[in-house]
Amino acid sequence: MAKKQFKTESKRILDLMINSIYTNKEIFIRELISNASDALDKLAFKALTDDSIKMKKSDYAIELNLDSAARTITIADNGIGMSREELENNLGTIARSGSLEFVRENAEAKDIDIIGQFGVGFYSAFMVASKVEVLSRAFNSEEAFKWVSEGADGYTINPSQKDKPGTTITLTLKPDGEGENYSQYLDQYRMSELVKKYSDYVRFPIKMEMKKSRKKEGSDEYESYTEIETLNSMVPIWKRSKRSVKEEDYKSFYKERFYDYNEPLKVIHQHAEGTTEYYALLFVPSKADYNFYSKDFERGLSLYSSGVLIMDKCAELLPEYFGFIKGLVDSEDLTLNISRETLQHDRQLTVIRTALEKRIKKELEDMLKNERESYEKLWESFGLSLKFGIYRSFGAAREALEELLMFRRASDGKWTTLREYRDGMKGDQKYIYFASGESVDKISKLPAAELVRDKGYELLCFTDEVDEFLTGILLSYDEKEYKSLTGGGDLGLESEQEKSEKEAKEEENKELLDCLRESLGGEVASVKLSQRLKSHPVCLTSEGAITLEMEKTFASMPGAAQAPKATRVLEISDRHPVFEKLRALWEEGDKDLLAKYARLLYDQALLIEGFSIEDPVAFSNQICELML
Ligand code: ADP
Ligand code: MG
Repeated sequence: MAKKQFKTESKRILDLMINSIYTNKEIFIRELISNASDALDKLAFKALTDDSIKMKKSDYAIELNLDSAARTITIADNGIGMSREELENNLGTIARSGSLEFVRENAEAKDIDIIGQFGVGFYSAFMVASKVEVLSRAFNSEEAFKWVSEGADGYTINPSQKDKPGTTITLTLKPDGEGENYSQYLDQYRMSELVKKYSDYVRFPIKMEMKKSRKKEGSDEYESYTEIETLNSMVPIWKRSKRSVKEEDYKSFYKERFYDYNEPLKVIHQHAEGTTEYYALLFVPSKADYNFYSKDFERGLSLYSSGVLIMDKCAELLPEYFGFIKGLVDSEDLTLNISRETLQHDRQLTVIRTALEKRIKKELEDMLKNERESYEKLWESFGLSLKFGIYRSFGAAREALEELLMFRRASDGKWTTLREYRDGMKGDQKYIYFASGESVDKISKLPAAELVRDKGYELLCFTDEVDEFLTGILLSYDEKEYKSLTGGGDLGLESEQEKSEKEAKEEENKELLDCLRESLGGEVASVKLSQRLKSHPVCLTSEGAITLEMEKTFASMPGAAQAPKATRVLEISDRHPVFEKLRALWEEGDKDLLAKYARLLYDQALLIEGFSIEDPVAFSNQICELML
């Protein structure tokens, strides 16, 4: 038969196809296996009503063959096959999908999961092959035909011979070169890896003859032999009923699939039916990946459609703050784009994402309630991700995440949720108290922590930089405001009477306090009598929106020179004997010594707050002076 020409448009489309639709050449194998699987499905469907088809269920198979010497790959199926017309129509016309037509013509076939629909996948073979031969015999025919093409030039169809119905596709690989290694597809291990990656859950066995070697019995010599192996696992664990899957199966699946030697903290297995049907198998890892908190981390769930991997990491399936969740989603209801590498519309995706988010939230809440130990492990690995979720969304994610937050409490260093803190609040307690610092230990030793503790109030320890920014957004929990121990303002620790006494005392000592402030040369906005100190003489607090802790955070970021600073206040305890000493000096008029002491007290306050002091040598000399 004379060579037929592709229509001009087809030529251009083929060219486009080969060069730009797919980002990954290796997917040709996925496409050809998917076609073979469709052909088997179609025949199985026909067999339901056609008694002349004598196939046992176990006969349906896809066979791969690699021939390094000939540089060929063959993909054979014993499916429905193609007549001459079908070869012509389905392979001679780009973007014509025989599979789509099949589903349209057979209304009852809607329920079989045919993979093909665009009529382009087949041509992906030309990304790796210089020549493609398709030998096919339709299931209801004795005749076979061979379609041969070397690319955009066109194709031939000629009568041929074939023992059994079905299709055998032979690709002759292009020569290696220009950074392209086509020979890799002739490697049996590489090929089994690709089949596992993309087609592990195709429902028919994908078999390949593997060359192996073993030690000869009773000798040190090796002999080679061949063995036919089934490369795919066929039934995906997530499509099995929950009852039939053992906890161990989930765990080993997780470890193998996600390369983690730790067991997951939680397994979530869901089959959702409704407007969008999907299966989801999700895992909460027990540890964060080494790069989890870096920009390199690629979050997302694997996305399958009809058992075929569409995307390895689909980020749209999860909100960013649940980025630590690993797993996969399988749905036949997705509208795929032509390369099947991405999705066409995101409507169904949004439906799935919303449902998953709800489910994950509920599972985490259950975990918090019923598996405290596991939840605390999760929190230690991924708590920061949840905190950033609220912070980065400017509070929009509050509803989803607030109840999941935990902080350490100062009294015993244990984790507490906000609910637990709130429920444990004393009757007269006005605020939710927190203080920032490097560790629980350092925070509980803060001078200002003493009064809070005396009152029997609990204190939340903020040890992550984001914590204060977080409460800056949240402001309150269940109608109780957050209150920083070092944030200035009324701490709500004193009675009205104590407050007015303090005000009177402050008025009385106004000149002394102003003098102290002046001697510090503008480093503090004011010097005050403290409401928050008991046995300690001094502490440092701030006024306004920027806290001391935020100042430290800003100072550690690039551009620190222009970073905003907190407005500092030096607080002195009028209950401490040192204050009496200051008053005595004031009355004696010894302003020089007063200035020295002011500096000494300020430096102490700085050290307690975790700041460095300007002149440590002067600080040391002054202390020595006092010692002598
Ligand atoms: P799609 O799979 O999206 O329909 P393809 O380009 O992959 O598009 O395949 C085009 C058509 O060729 C298929 O719809 C099918 O009718 C036919 N076809 C391809 N491979 C085979 C096969 N192995 N057996 C039978 N028919 C096939
Ligand atoms: Mg296809």
